[in-house]
Amino acid sequence: MSASRPRTWGRGARMPLETAAPAGAPAATAAPAKPALELIDVRASYGRIEVLHGVDLAVPRGSVVALLGPNGAGKTTTIRVASGLLKPDSGCLHIAGKHLNGASPEDLSRAGVCTIPEGRGIFPNLTVLENLELITYAGVRFSDVRERVFGLFPRLEERRKQLAGTLSGGEQQMLALARAVATDPGLLLLDEISMGLAPKIVEELYRIVGDIAKTGVAILLVEQFAAMALSVADFAALMVQGKVRTVGEPADVERQLQHAYFGGAA
Ligand code: ATP
Repeated sequence: MSASRPRTWGRGARMPLETAAPAGAPAATAAPAKPALELIDVRASYGRIEVLHGVDLAVPRGSVVALLGPNGAGKTTTIRVASGLLKPDSGCLHIAGKHLNGASPEDLSRAGVCTIPEGRGIFPNLTVLENLELITYAGVRFSDVRERVFGLFPRLEERRKQLAGTLSGGEQQMLALARAVATDPGLLLLDEISMGLAPKIVEELYRIVGDIAKTGVAILLVEQFAAMALSVADFAALMVQGKVRTVGEPADVERQLQHAYFGGAA
């Protein structure tokens, strides 16, 4: 967890669903902030096969939650529900306190949810700079995008004139991440950003994820490299067979991982 963000709960305590209003906030705005993402008893299916069997999960504002669990547990499906790609059959999807069941990916994006599309969503025949320029259609000033992105990704600034398709796999993933954070989202959903990358690059990517978190973006992370995800997480959730079984401090959840991966339900 980053030193700059206070831990608001103790060992064994539940994850705080609402975060305190900033100190000194006027009384009218002092109500606790609703979580960036909240899933309540969410069920979801592919065709007639239900794969999420009542998922409860919250990502408090400005915090990083690592969603871990064995293959087929339903982690990617949970991300798909949170990004609007899959509609829940029942239960609630709340974004910053707004009930958004059935909202399209575009509506969720307008509500501040951002994710990296499959295939990274970058344009290989455009330069790094041009890939970033395309984001400004959303009404975001390019000077702001540049400042934010190159502050977080100095390597992309060095490569700004290079065609995206000629970047290394790790740099392409950085560009995908850069495009995702450029618009200053409230919630970032990251599914296996390490896929196919060398461990050293993955380490660098996760250092950047930690830096993104320090800017106040809430992040839900799904990752095979559990240790890497846990190193930047404030909280961890363990998913087994379509349900979140445990939520807690990263170290506590890490101890249960092996049992969940090799011994069935935690
Ligand atoms: P992994 O760690 O292997 O990526 P996961 O925890 O992300 O797994 P999901 O990809 O969410 O798990 O899959 C949950 C269940 O849903 C699995 O049984 C999977 O086979 C099934 N599933 C996933 N995608 C589809 C699909 N498009 N159509 C039908 N079934 C699917």
